[in-house]
Amino acid sequence: MEAITIIGGGVAGLALAAGLDPQRFDVTIHEQRPGPPTVESSLAMWPEAQSALALLGILPHIRGVAATFGGMALRDAAGNSWISPEVRGVLGVSRADLLGLLGAAVPRSVRRVATRVEDIPASGPLASGLLVGADGVHSVVRRAFWGGRSEATQSPYLALRGVLADPVAADSGGEYWGRGKLFGITPASGGRTYWYASFRSDLGPSGVDVAEALQQTRGRFAGSAPAIRQVLETATPATSLAQRIWTVPILGSYERPGAVLVGDAAHGMTPNLGRGACEALVDAVTLAELLNSRSVAEALRAYNRKRVLRTQLLRLGSSGMTRLALAERAQPVRDRLLRLATQQSPAGAVGRS
Ligand SMILES: Cc1cc2nc3c(=O)[nH]c(=O)nc-3n(C[C@H](O)[C@H](O)[C@H](O)COP(=O)(O)OP(=O)(O)OC[C@H]3O[C@@H](n4cnc5c(N)ncnc54)[C@H](O)[C@@H]3O)c2cc1C
Repeated sequence: MEAITIIGGGVAGLALAAGLDPQRFDVTIHEQRPGPPTVESSLAMWPEAQSALALLGILPHIRGVAATFGGMALRDAAGNSWISPEVRGVLGVSRADLLGLLGAAVPRSVRRVATRVEDIPASGPLASGLLVGADGVHSVVRRAFWGGRSEATQSPYLALRGVLADPVAADSGGEYWGRGKLFGITPASGGRTYWYASFRSDLGPSGVDVAEALQQTRGRFAGSAPAIRQVLETATPATSLAQRIWTVPILGSYERPGAVLVGDAAHGMTPNLGRGACEALVDAVTLAELLNSRSVAEALRAYNRKRVLRTQLLRLGSSGMTRLALAERAQPVRDRLLRLATQQSPAGAVGRS
């Protein structure tokens, strides 16, 4: 048996543990979180992520608890729609459901250690076998093996989100782009509504006070579309999450002798393309398949070849989307161009593209 120690039992860590061959690997997961998330949030699952979930055998269960996206308009802050593309094949999955189903797919032989790993010592159990950094954007594994220059970078943006009991009101779904602020309203599982917001804020960087963040959000969106104001009137600190957005600097390789990174630890990106958790799943399933079928050294090289370029491009694309969606000085030009593009294209062409 070869030893694999996974730091982090989030989306990436659990998916990797679920995919590794228990006959070949002696797997241990260290997770600091005491239980499932207590505040609901939702994740968009794109088709590639659904294929990864299918390989782990849990896609039918995910489908059973997920919401399906339909029309998702891109709007200005007042709610006027620029583009209404038909979004096909994207699911909205509760993070708690996803973590629960991934956790249930982890073989019983995997040891679960409920602890926070503070650093990676040069010797001892953590230093023997393969160490996997699945510990998110502030990864201790990345710091130990990639050094201080790989520390996460704080963005100026705050992200808030939450799930509300009522369904998305007719013709209010989609993403609203204002001046330096964005708001999203999408369907969530069980006929509920998922909302998210982002804007520049001086709250944080850690331990953001949710009530204060919600208050700031209400202020920022005071004159915006009625659907946004309605969501913010219903949202409470107990049903909302607030955090600063962090990203990971560009890494040219996700492997070092004895260590490998998956998910946000490798390519933590802004949430504007809704791809972080999806790519974390694809990383994990790709790495598990390679480790199950090759030597560890070969598997890590192949994993690097398959995953670095794609995820770094998505990371850049996501940053570009953040700049566009949260444009401040360029907002009038952005809005004018979007309006022009919509008016001048044949019906639906912009939406489709
Ligand atoms: C506002 C917002 C909206 C988003 N929306 C989407 C979306 O719609 N679709 C999508 O695909 N992605 C989305 N994402 C991104 C997604 O949340 C992340 O990409 C995903 O959670 C990454 O999974 P991970 O397992 O790599 O990292 P994490 O989810 O960060 O998991 C890391 C785990 O490691 C544990 N851990 C960390 N450090 C230690 C330690 N030292 N010792 C022990 N345990 C440790 C943590 O407790 C955690 O459980 C969004 C992100 C944000 C902020």
